[in-house]
Amino acid sequence: MTGERADQLASNLRTVRTRIAAACAAAGRAEDAVALTVVTKFFPASDVALLAGLGVRAVGENKHQEGQEKRPEVVALRGCDDLTWHFVGGLQSNKAAAVAGWADVVESVDRVKLVRGLSRGAVERPKPLVVLVQVSLDPPDAAAGRAGALAEEVPALAEAVAQAPGLVLGGVMGVAPLGGEPAEAFARLHQAAERLQADHPGADRISAGMSGDLEQAVAAGATHVRVGSAVLGPRPVVQ
Ligand SMILES: *Cc1c(COP(=O)(O)O)cnc(C)c1O
Repeated sequence: MTGERADQLASNLRTVRTRIAAACAAAGRAEDAVALTVVTKFFPASDVALLAGLGVRAVGENKHQEGQEKRPEVVALRGCDDLTWHFVGGLQSNKAAAVAGWADVVESVDRVKLVRGLSRGAVERPKPLVVLVQVSLDPPDAAAGRAGALAEEVPALAEAVAQAPGLVLGGVMGVAPLGGEPAEAFARLHQAAERLQADHPGADRISAGMSGDLEQAVAAGATHVRVGSAVLGPRPVVQ
């Protein structure tokens, strides 16, 4: 059973790595210019341990409780704590400090209200917490409640992160709009990243692209792609 799952993950991972390499080649970028984060939400610690054995170095979770529980399970299975854990989900300000207790990178910071809690949790860590500013790529008339800071909100948010003890501003993150054209959205994310780097030269990460649109993200300069279902298979449907 485990052997079958390991074979399936290895095969899927090979396919995704080939897609990333091909997209880098097509864009004239070095093959190692793009890092892979495998989004393991809904999948068990045993899958994360198998992925680590296959060379995956970074994993992503979108629920605080799931990540907080899964990380020690993976450490127990592997006997070491060598993965980088990314939080990519919607964040509530009352959970922010706790997320800093297990995540190494928080990609989904879209309002100043989250910064104080993240910082409070982060100063307890041995290493700083890397924070990405999530930029909204939705059209202005998109349904309320989608995540992401508006372009004009990014500078103040980035400054708040950069000033906060325990936090390091890493760059930007974006999710292509539902039903939209990903290439155009990722081009806007790239512009937001360039504006951010003018003020914060070290904040050079651009996290963009998922299973369905990683090629467009790599073409638009993504430095990190977040891939779930193309590696792990379809997730159970949730409302
Ligand atoms: C689930 C998720 C992903 C991965 O999506 P797939 O389409 O399964 O590759 C990437 N980014 C975020 C923010 C996610 O929540």
